[in-house]
Amino acid sequence: MSLDFTEHEEAFRAEARTWLAENSPGRLPSMDTTEGAAAHRVWEQQLASGRWSVVAWPQEFGGREATLTEWVIFEEEYYLSGAPTRITQNGISLLAPIIFEHGTPEQQQRYLPTMADGTDVWAQAWSEPEAGSDLAGIRSTATRDDSRGGWVLNGQKTWSSRAPFADRGFGLFRSDPTAERHRGLTYFLFPLTADGITVRPIPQLDGDPGFAEIFFDDVFVPDADVLGGAGDGWRVAMSTAGNERGLSLRAPGRFMAAADQLVDLWRERGDEAPTMRDAVVDAWIGARAYQFYTWGTVDRLQDGGDMGAAGSVNKLFWSDLDVGLHETGLALLGAEQELRGEDAPHGGRWMDDYLFSLAGPIYAGTNEIQRNIVAERILGLPRGEKRS
Ligand SMILES: Cc1cc2nc3c(=O)[nH]c(=O)nc-3n(C[C@H](O)[C@H](O)[C@H](O)COP(=O)(O)OP(=O)(O)OC[C@H]3O[C@@H](n4cnc5c(N)ncnc54)[C@H](O)[C@@H]3O)c2cc1C
Repeated sequence: MSLDFTEHEEAFRAEARTWLAENSPGRLPSMDTTEGAAAHRVWEQQLASGRWSVVAWPQEFGGREATLTEWVIFEEEYYLSGAPTRITQNGISLLAPIIFEHGTPEQQQRYLPTMADGTDVWAQAWSEPEAGSDLAGIRSTATRDDSRGGWVLNGQKTWSSRAPFADRGFGLFRSDPTAERHRGLTYFLFPLTADGITVRPIPQLDGDPGFAEIFFDDVFVPDADVLGGAGDGWRVAMSTAGNERGLSLRAPGRFMAAADQLVDLWRERGDEAPTMRDAVVDAWIGARAYQFYTWGTVDRLQDGGDMGAAGSVNKLFWSDLDVGLHETGLALLGAEQELRGEDAPHGGRWMDDYLFSLAGPIYAGTNEIQRNIVAERILGLPRGEKRS
């Protein structure tokens, strides 16, 4: 494997850097507020108008047909420019790969362009009150309605990120209660404004309504909005889970940019907290280690390999790195870490990002579950005891 970039890749990086330098809005208000969500949508539309919103997608859906290497380069440049986290992330990172893999050509035409241009923000509706780690335990139901050519959904989903501000949802429902747990599930796409859907916001740790519960009361979904086949939902869903933990959600650019900002903070504040020096260095090395490891993964994937259980190693690494890095930032700020608003150092971003980092070990599959996967599938250790 070579770590040298081709001329074409260098030109791609230069073009992305120039465009982002001229257009990146920097940090925007939190996308988990009405004002922030609106500002993020405007930014995503601008990104799409420059054809930078989905660089790796085919041109017909708004992309540039970039390679995986170019996509990682773009992510590095994106975060270096200080551009904000993507409000379209759930759709683009989690749903689009399975629409490409399992969707009909008609579904691809209907959903991908409006996802790419920021018109439709999607929310993931997988978790339920009794089904998070044990996702196959979901109870929300889909009942066949032959007369209308579709399905009727009932039940409750929870922890759906961005649902208070999203347009559409994707989720798993139990369509065959007699089948084995994993086999009786079907994957549906639906507008969050459909008759019978109630979206109830849940405040996060910082008070913003970043999540919602979604209640389904006899919601009709036509066959045209089943993704994959009836009863095939688990297979369809799992084809994205490795992706989510692996690369699509967290390319290294985000952590490299944060680690560089931490080094800047040390230059500004280090005299007041000399004992934090080693932690700053460790965070910077961690971000670079993740970058180099990722290039190895990219090389493997481009040679036809798959992510497999290694996605769980990635997920454990980036989530722990993110928490440690932000704890170090807060320690450097000392008591000032508590300040909020315009007078806060760095606009309060260290506390905001620290609070978000705390969620990393939970979403995309908790770290305890990822350790089980690494233990069993990579290291061949015996299964842990099942908790009741
Ligand atoms: C910021 C954030 C965003 C999220 N966004 C979404 C979203 O958009 N859509 C969505 O559907 N969901 C979302 N989630 C939900 C997330 O997927 C679940 O919280 C997660 O899967 C854990 O499920 P749970 O909360 O039901 O916890 P539980 O499964 O009840 O787990 C509780 C604790 O027990 C541990 N545990 C459970 N089983 C085992 C086991 N067998 N061995 C060892 N330990 C175990 C867990 O690791 C955890 O520490 C989000 C969560 C967060 C924090």
